[in-house]
Amino acid sequence: MTIHAAGDFGEFSLTIAVSSPPWYQNCYIVRHKPSGEIAIIDPGGDAEQIIAEVKSQQDTLGGKAVDIWLTHGHPDHIGAARAVEQALGVRTIAHAQEKPVIERASDLNRAFTGEGQDGPTQLHLFEDEPEFTLGGALVKTIFTPGHTPGGVCFDFGGFVITGDTLFRQGVGRTDLPGGSEAQLWDSITRLLSKLPDEARLYSGHGPDWSVAEARRWWRMMA
Ligand SMILES: [Zn+2]
Ligand SMILES: [Zn+2]
Repeated sequence: MTIHAAGDFGEFSLTIAVSSPPWYQNCYIVRHKPSGEIAIIDPGGDAEQIIAEVKSQQDTLGGKAVDIWLTHGHPDHIGAARAVEQALGVRTIAHAQEKPVIERASDLNRAFTGEGQDGPTQLHLFEDEPEFTLGGALVKTIFTPGHTPGGVCFDFGGFVITGDTLFRQGVGRTDLPGGSEAQLWDSITRLLSKLPDEARLYSGHGPDWSVAEARRWWRMMA
């Protein structure tokens, strides 16, 4: 695993923890600087390093981890959830329509790697597109089904976590259970229509890009 600071976005700081091969999945640790509240988005693997990074931020800067948030329930995005729940005393938040994906994640992981995995045990499901807060700062949920039935993006204002809905110059696969190419296309079009040009998009795998770049690329694709 590699961990690096992506920088500050207003009240938030963003840290990226990239999981080991074969997935190279981006876990995001978002800290609300004034309050110290931390959300851990998609803890996919390498639990010890994620936990160590969060504890280090808590010890050096103060504050506390409050929740795990899931963009979706594929095994490469939830593999460390149970260990992080237990080590940091947090719950896991996901969209209600993602429940079957989370429940089947261990089987899917076995199909890919030959091994099952532990899922989250403190799962709290939400409907629609709720607005959350982290340390009192607003975080919007944008429902983006297609890669999975209950996929969401988390909009922090200056940056958006897009999971496997949208990568830099790429879209998520739709051939896994519950996937829909038509839904994914609609979701990406709607997502990009809601965001300002200058916001940064951080995806589940690979590098970030801006909404302006994504919109230009999407006009050629759609
Ligand atoms: Zn996925
Ligand atoms: Zn993924």
